[in-house]
Amino acid sequence: MLIDSHAHLTSDRLLPEIDALLERARAAGVDRIVSVAIHADDAERAIELAQAHPGVHATAGIHPHDARLATEDHLARIRDLLDRPEVVAVGETGLDFHYDNSPRDDQRRSFERHLDLAAETGLPVVVHSRAADEEMEAVLRSRGAEVRGVLHCFSGPEALFEAAIEAEWMVSFTGIVTFRSFGGEGLVRQVPADRYMIETDAPYMAPVPHRGRRNEPAYVAEVARCIAEIREEPVERVAGDSTQNALRFFGIS
Ligand SMILES: [Zn+2]
Repeated sequence: MLIDSHAHLTSDRLLPEIDALLERARAAGVDRIVSVAIHADDAERAIELAQAHPGVHATAGIHPHDARLATEDHLARIRDLLDRPEVVAVGETGLDFHYDNSPRDDQRRSFERHLDLAAETGLPVVVHSRAADEEMEAVLRSRGAEVRGVLHCFSGPEALFEAAIEAEWMVSFTGIVTFRSFGGEGLVRQVPADRYMIETDAPYMAPVPHRGRRNEPAYVAEVARCIAEIREEPVERVAGDSTQNALRFFGIS
């Protein structure tokens, strides 16, 4: 059994063929999928999906790209959605200083508020970090111990990895581990067996041999295969460890 710990099933590129896509996922051994939300309306859609499809779980949060939309009203809606039984995590939140789609101060404020929500509810937090390594490391060192969290789509650097491990956070690997340009093999090898998850981040980040095309949860099997190769472990062990970690992290039984 595999778990896709991070996919955007509500995306226009996935939702129209949700039934076929979930069937292909099951055929590939992917029994559970966490559909990660990017704002409150999206979280409501993810909750509807979770209600309609056993094995699908939802999150509620505001993506750093949309942090400029994180008004008090919007955050209050997120807070209410976190009480829904289908919701297993806060997020996706974080810092993206690569695209800077929202002003950095809005991103910082929204991220802090999401950490507050995670601390208040006891839910784990799903964190996106891009081109913000030093600042993310500082946040992990100052607030990481307050909450349980995951750095999703993780590829380094080492200092951020160390801060995450020290805070007892998880890291999660996508299809970029299969790219020739991936430079994080050392981290994949050294991450403790109880500190990592795997994900697709579908519809983005399709692993080799699907690279450049639309990604979907079935392909998390390729991520597992690649991690097994890098760690020199049987793929069954990677599947077992990453599944146990995701069940524990999200509190799914
Ligand atoms: Zn995402």
